[in-house]
Amino acid sequence: MPKLQTKMMAALVTVMLLLTLVITLASLLSLREFSIRAATEHTRTAAEITLVALTESMVNGTIHTRDSFLQRIAHVEGLDSVRVIRGPLVEDQFGHGLLEETPGDAIDHAVLINGEAVYTLSGGYLSPYFRATLPYIASSQGEVNCLSCHAVPENSVLGAVTLTASIEPMRQAALITVFFLVLAVLAFALLCLFFLKRLLNPLVLTAQEIQAAVDQASAGHFDLRLQPRSQDEIGSIAESFNRLTAGINQKLSEIRSNVAHLVMTQPSQQGDLLAETAQTVAGLVKVAKFKQAIEEDEHISEVYQRISDVLQEEFLLHTFSIYEVDAQQKRLITVNVDGIAQAPTYWCSADINEHCRACRAVRTGHRIDGIDHTSLCRSFADEARKEESSYLCLPILQAGGVGCVIQLVLSAEEQARIPTQLPLIEAYLREAAPVLQAKSLMASLKESTLNDAMTGLRNRRFLEEYSESLMSQCKRRESAMTLMMLDLDYFKTVNDTYGHDVGDHILIDLAHIFLAQVRDSDLVIRYGGEEFLIILLDTPAAAGEKVAEKIRLAVEEHQFKAGHQLINKTLSIGLADFPHDGQAFWQVLKFADVALYTAKDQGRNRVIRFTPELWLSKEKY
Ligand code: GH3
Ligand code: MG
Ligand code: MG
Repeated sequence: MPKLQTKMMAALVTVMLLLTLVITLASLLSLREFSIRAATEHTRTAAEITLVALTESMVNGTIHTRDSFLQRIAHVEGLDSVRVIRGPLVEDQFGHGLLEETPGDAIDHAVLINGEAVYTLSGGYLSPYFRATLPYIASSQGEVNCLSCHAVPENSVLGAVTLTASIEPMRQAALITVFFLVLAVLAFALLCLFFLKRLLNPLVLTAQEIQAAVDQASAGHFDLRLQPRSQDEIGSIAESFNRLTAGINQKLSEIRSNVAHLVMTQPSQQGDLLAETAQTVAGLVKVAKFKQAIEEDEHISEVYQRISDVLQEEFLLHTFSIYEVDAQQKRLITVNVDGIAQAPTYWCSADINEHCRACRAVRTGHRIDGIDHTSLCRSFADEARKEESSYLCLPILQAGGVGCVIQLVLSAEEQARIPTQLPLIEAYLREAAPVLQAKSLMASLKESTLNDAMTGLRNRRFLEEYSESLMSQCKRRESAMTLMMLDLDYFKTVNDTYGHDVGDHILIDLAHIFLAQVRDSDLVIRYGGEEFLIILLDTPAAAGEKVAEKIRLAVEEHQFKAGHQLINKTLSIGLADFPHDGQAFWQVLKFADVALYTAKDQGRNRVIRFTPELWLSKEKY
């Protein structure tokens, strides 16, 4: 039974029981009092009548028949016995009367001495009776003058009459009355209980339904309705509650479908819908903050790092790769592996770096789910397969093609939770896609401004941009670098003799010769019209001189095409090194230039290394 109902019933039953008890006790007490009073009056009247009858028989001279008279009185309904005793004064005057007229007990004596009536209740619970012993007082007043016969003083005690009466019938009547009274109270109590239960029922049931609905709402469901059970406040509580939950339910499903639209999923119908929605909204807020952060990032590498951080921190995924598609070279560049930038390819075969079409996600442009079929993509690294990992590759589309691929490498535990995480991961990647595209466009634009369009070499702007970092890189590694200035000898005559186009082709050929003679890490820059700068990293001037000589020789031996002819050209080279010749980049460059002009001055087609003496005689140039 519900607690509220039990409590109210218990309270009502207690009140009714107490009421019954009080009524019973009060009735019993008042009935007892009434019985005693009635018996007192009853016996007093009988005593008076007896006295009158005795006096009358004295006057009439029939006092000797008093015995049978008293016996008849004793048979009167309501009386059990009647006994008259003589007082000492009467005995003195008339002698002893009948045997039973001598005082019998202490009450008799007390009444004769004190002249006051004594009423007692005796006989125990089983046969109770009432005894009244009343004195006969001598009086000269009234209709009969007692003193005319009795030679006693006024107001003296002549004798006493003792009457006993059973009060059993009266007690029985009282008990029956009390019994009916209690019965009536109990019937009333039952009636009250019945009506109270009927009254409480809607309240209790509504309370139970509210409890169930609140429990369900705590679990994220708001579709439970209450049944309006009465037309009063309880009914209106149920209606208001229903309106409230219907409103919440409608708003919640609107929010859920909007949120689901944002993460491009179907709203789920199970679990704690409210908590789930709140979690997705919190996730979307993080996505929005992520978007703002990557938009403000300066370089595309920072965006990749943020994607890597999100995978690790938000989704607790620690094994993954981020690949960038180099559309021109048709290669894949591994930009991040397991959170480490520029790490070597680990989760795929290195083939993908050479041919981007070896990556299935790049080739198809859609998600590659290797969870059920690990062999779906042949480029997934064999070692990883043995570890029983699986993969999920998510392409990021940019300008109609695949710009990047996020490869998630998943353990069994991660495979189990990835379906719930995937919509939000994809929301992050959707936000990242346009930003990555814009940043890569910016990067390639910038790249183009740093390159020389004709030769494909770096240009002077590149030098301006990176000279500082080249120098600090050199300092950090505590190594030297050689700066080499190169200038073709008598180039003007080529233009003049064969035309500008021939001159241009010679410059392009020259660029190829330079690139072929230096390492990949060295920098070849078209510094001016037909002036070049080659920076040899980690190379002091002594070693640089040998490379310069090699270049000089390669150019000298090369036969350039000039229309239908082949011509030979030479070049002069001046070089200086950092940090031995100078402490500042542009200073060392100037020293190399001074050396170049010395080479020109000394007859061209030669390599001259800078010495401080050259600087002192620079005024010549
Ligand atoms: P030298 O260096 O030996 O003193 O003599 P030079 O004739 O090469 O003299 P200089 O280096 O001063 O000549 C620069 C010439 O290079 C001027 C210009 O006609 C030519 N030149 C510069 N840029 C280009 C270019 O882009 N294409 C062509 N075809 N010629 C260029
Ligand atoms: Mg020149
Ligand atoms: Mg020249």
